[in-house]
This record gives sequence, C-alpha cells and structure tokens, in this order.
Amino acid sequence: MTEKTSIEARAPEGLPDVIRHYIDGELVDSIDGDTFDVLDPVTNQPYIQAASGKAADIDRAVAAAKAAFEGGEWSQALPRARSRVLHRIADIMETRGDQLAAMECFDTGLPIAQARGQAARAAENFRFFADLIVAQHDDAFKVPGRQANYVNRKPIGVAGLITPWNTPFMLESWKLAPAIATGNSVVLKPAEFTPLSASLWPEIFEDAGLPKGVFNMVHGFGEEGFAGDPLVKHPDVPLISFTGESRTGQIIFANAAPHLKGLSMELGGKSPAVVFADADLDTAIDATIFGVFSLNGERCTAGSRILVQREVYDEFVERYAAQADRVKVGLPNDPTTEVGAIVHPEHYEKVMSYVEIGKSEARLVAGGGRPEEFPEGNFVRPTVFADVKPDARIFQEEIFGPVVAITPFDTDEEALELANNTKYGLAAYIWTNDLKRAHNVAQDVEAGMVWLNSNNVRDLRTPFGGVKASGLGHEGGYRSIDFYTDQQAVHINL
Ligand code: NAD
Repeated sequence: MTEKTSIEARAPEGLPDVIRHYIDGELVDSIDGDTFDVLDPVTNQPYIQAASGKAADIDRAVAAAKAAFEGGEWSQALPRARSRVLHRIADIMETRGDQLAAMECFDTGLPIAQARGQAARAAENFRFFADLIVAQHDDAFKVPGRQANYVNRKPIGVAGLITPWNTPFMLESWKLAPAIATGNSVVLKPAEFTPLSASLWPEIFEDAGLPKGVFNMVHGFGEEGFAGDPLVKHPDVPLISFTGESRTGQIIFANAAPHLKGLSMELGGKSPAVVFADADLDTAIDATIFGVFSLNGERCTAGSRILVQREVYDEFVERYAAQADRVKVGLPNDPTTEVGAIVHPEHYEKVMSYVEIGKSEARLVAGGGRPEEFPEGNFVRPTVFADVKPDARIFQEEIFGPVVAITPFDTDEEALELANNTKYGLAAYIWTNDLKRAHNVAQDVEAGMVWLNSNNVRDLRTPFGGVKASGLGHEGGYRSIDFYTDQQAVHINL
C-alpha cells in the first residue's frame, strides 16, 4: 500500500463512527448488537462497522412506519405540503453534493467524477417527484343522467425498498422520492456492500422537515435470517420495490406471493449495442466504450454485448480495443479516473472469473487482468473479447464489470436474433443512419428501453424497466406514482 492508496489519505470528511439503523427518528444499533465489516474497495480493509439487522429490527422499523402512516401527518398531508418538503430535500442534497459524491466514491470505488453526476441525479429525482405530485390528476367520467365516476388516489401504507450496491444513493432516491411523495411510509434496506452514503439520509430528511417515522432504514444482509428476507415477508408491508439480481428477484417474488404484495422489480441485464455498417463509427465507438466502462461496468443498462456488422467488424474491433486500452484505470478519488475499483472482493472475484472464462471462449483483444500499477485492491483493466459466440457464457451471463463481448453479424435478421438471444431484456442500443431500419429494429428488439444513436440519456417521465428476466413492472413518471398508490373508483348514480 502506498501513501496515496491508504485509507487515511482517501477517507472522506464526516465519516460516522459506526453505521446505524434509523428507526422512528432515532439512530439505533441492532437489537442483538450485531455488526458487520464494511470494506474499502481500494485496500479491501474494513474501514467501518455497520449494524446488522435481523427480523426483530425489521419489526421495529415496520411498526414505526405503520404508526407514522396511521397518524396521518404525512399520509394525509396535501400534495403541495409534501412537495415543499421534497423540494427542500433536493435543495439540501444539492448543497451537500460534494460530500455525498465523496462518500459514494470512497465506499463503492466509483470514479469521483461519475459519483458527482450520480449525486446530482439523486437530487433531481426528489425535485422531479415533488413537481409530479402536485401536477397529478385523475380521471373523472360522467354519463349524463346516469352516473358520475371519479378516482380517489390513496397512499398504500408501508413500502419496503430493497436496493443494490451499484450507484446506491441514486437508486435509493429513485424509490424513496415517489414512495414518500405519494404519502407512504418506508423501510429502506440498503445494500450491505455499500451502506455509507445511505447514512446521510436521516439528517437530510430531518433538516427538510419530514415527520419522524415516515423514513426508516435497516442495514444488513438480504438472505433468510438477516434484514431483507423478513422485510419481504412482513405482513404489514404491502409493497416491495426491489432492484438487484434476477435470481434474487425470483426469491423475493416467491416470498411475497403468500401475501399477494405489490411488486416492482428492476433486475439484471446483458444489453446489446448493435452497430450497423452505416453508423457513424467514431460516435458509436465513443458511446459503446462509455456504455460498458462507465460506472466501472457496474451498470444495469451497460451495453455489454456489442454486435457489429461484418463490413466494419475488423476496423471496429481494432479501434475499440485501442480505445479500451486508453481508458484510465485509477484511484476512485482521482478526478481523471475513468474506471475505479470494483465494489467488493467477492464481486471482483466474480468479474475476474469471467475474464478467465472469456479467454477460453473467445479472442482477447484488450485488458484481461489487473493493471500492473495496482498490485492490490479490486482493479480490472477494461477487457474486450472479440469473435464471441452466442452460446459463450460471456455472451449469455451478466458480468457486471468492465468486460465486453463483441460478435459479428451479417444481416438485420441475424442482428435481431443475436440481440434477443439471452434471457435478459433491459436495454438495447442501435447505431445506424438508416431511419427506417432503426425504428424497425427498435420495434422488434426484446428490451424495455431502446436508445437510437444515443446513450443512456432519458427523460424521467418515460417508463424505466425491463422485459423477460430483467424485470417486472415499470417505474418512471406517473408509473411510479401508480405503483405507490391505490386508485379507488367511486361511482355515483345520477
Ligand atoms: P442482489 O440481488 O445481490 O442484492 C440486491 C439487494 O437485495 C441487496 O440489498 C441485498 O441485501 C438484498 N437481498 C438479497 N437477497 C435477498 C432476499 N432473499 N430477500 C430480500 N432481500 C435480499 O443484487 P446486487 O448484487 O446488489 O446488485 C447488482 C444487480 O442489480 C445486477 O444484477 C444489476 O443488473 C441489478 N440492477 C438492476 C437495475 C435495474 O434498474 N434494472 C439497476 C441497478 C442494478
């Protein structure tokens, strides 16, 4: 370890002594006193302890959330009143953006420049739902002389929010903002790899004036016997919004079934970027480099399979590999870093095992291991495999790291067949200057979201979600409001 890589040199200001649960307006330890180590991804040394929640802690948090909901101070507040609090939350997040980004970067290993962008987006999520909740309108119908009908929109109760470790604060905000805006109370269970940035929520909410008990948070692991599982199974939690792996989604689906809970599932992906020979290659290469190597490749919508038309395939592979070699791997807190440290040694081992699998399945054209300048910590060189066959594991399975598979195709039909040839269906990226082809391929590709000649920019009003093994339901705009509310129809005889 050098002086620059030491925890002391990189630790952000304002680290708490320990990471606690937050229940009914109080920071609390686990009832059984249990804690777990949180690791720094650059050294893999534990840098803090976090409370390890169990069923008893979840019971306590759900009881507080339920009491706050039934008390009505928040659940029955006018949308305008809730909106003001949400705007204050966004204001506070913006003023603390640097601190937030520094904590996120330190805990997750994401490059600081990208963590700043995620912090800004988290604030924007609150502002967006603050605006939406006051613009909300519902249908009313009238059959003259017969009947009138209108809709009562009501918050549902206690929402359980379970989130992953990639861009943790932003993904938490994407659930917290609509759940709270609509008047629900929540119990958040942040990812165990990355609990640090979530420790900022209590103060942000208190300073903004959110009534106590509306937001509760229990840290810890997900499996049975820990915190996530009893939240899913709790009879007083009618809604579960989950983002994470498809396999975990299946377990949660089964555990929620006896209670017929409302479920929103944002799951894994293995998204194709299809590059036709008529595409603007310079732009397509830049964008597909960003699409899989930004956020350390730990991005659900990463374009991790690139399908390239034969006429430009050799040129694309050569230029892509050269550009991947130029992507700067560095310390997460260095503002010039483009790929930082993989979040956790467990996940690092998984990514590295796919790098080895790839070497036996395809042609390695860039990366393929650890950068020489980082003999320890979770650093991976941006890794590119070419000539990847569709039955290869690196073509079919989500790696969730800076590793990409490139495959050639000849015709539009073959491109579509390859694009649709995985169990996932989250995103797709299409690069072509033929307008008709772009829209026709977009129509037939099995993906919840398609980007044409563009990369991951989107309006928060649009649906966000996947098809096939990538998810269930949609979030975004009024779809999130629909998930977190009941729509009661009222019919009146005239
Ligand atoms: P994960 O499924 O391992 O864990 C996600 C969360 O679920 C964690 O908080 C974990 O503690 C909890 N959990 C685990 N088992 C549980 C159980 N039995 N009951 C209740 N909770 C449980 O996922 P991860 O490794 O943290 O995240 C990476 C995955 O998330 C990738 O597959 C990625 O594609 C996906 N993801 C999807 C989106 C999207 O919007 N579609 C966004 C980000 C990440």
